Amino acid sequence: MLREDIVFGPIKSRRLGRSLGINLLPEKGKICNFDCIYCECGWNSEGLSDTRIPNAAAVRNALEDKLCQCMLEGVQIDSITFSGDGEPTLNPDFARIIDDTIILRNTFYPSAKISVLSNATRLHKEDVFQALRKVDQPILKLDAPDNTLAAIINRCGKDYDVNRVIEGMERFQGNFILQTIFLKCKDFDSLSPAVLEGWKAWVRLLRPRQIMAYTISRPTPLAGIEAYEESAIRDALQDLLDEGFSIQIKGK
Ligand code: SF4
Repeated sequence: MLREDIVFGPIKSRRLGRSLGINLLPEKGKICNFDCIYCECGWNSEGLSDTRIPNAAAVRNALEDKLCQCMLEGVQIDSITFSGDGEPTLNPDFARIIDDTIILRNTFYPSAKISVLSNATRLHKEDVFQALRKVDQPILKLDAPDNTLAAIINRCGKDYDVNRVIEGMERFQGNFILQTIFLKCKDFDSLSPAVLEGWKAWVRLLRPRQIMAYTISRPTPLAGIEAYEESAIRDALQDLLDEGFSIQIKGK
């Protein structure tokens, strides 16, 4: 499922309400430094012919046009969301685009949140970190508690280091949203005690202001992945709920 436009929607999002999407990556292909087995955009190897990445001016113009149109039509927008075909922070203009988006949001939809769905691999880049600090909802991914499982779920490169990701997340001092997908296939089970305890140890260290715990809801590029019922995820995270963590759970 690739986004054909820089700005798309608004769509009804399970997690974000009425969400106006922004795609900072190509329209017909995906660019990501992960290649998650569940990615709704498919594999990185598909659609490689399109490498056009919109610059800050193109994003600003597209967003201004769309926000103006939505306002005139009385369309509700709860979140202006950077998601799209890959990892948004890979766009070299990311920091400038965030600054422009804040100005446009304040002008047209001051009560809408700005959300960024990121795989958190570029938090060590100061401009990326500072930009993410400015948005209302930096939603940072941690699917696996260690590099071995991340290689299976996220198919990340060899340079991925979960410790570096955690160090970047620690700099938010809890003021971020942690997103984690729970699923199982023949190679692993996210809710197995070993995986779960490793993940919970990071959660207790990071103390994010909110956790989005969810499962797959769309076809996945890898066959044989199973989703979880909401009740299974809730039961597995009950101790964190009891400890006061705010957790939004979306099962199948
Ligand atoms: S990080 Fe996001 S965009 Fe990148 S492969 Fe994973 S799900 Fe797809």
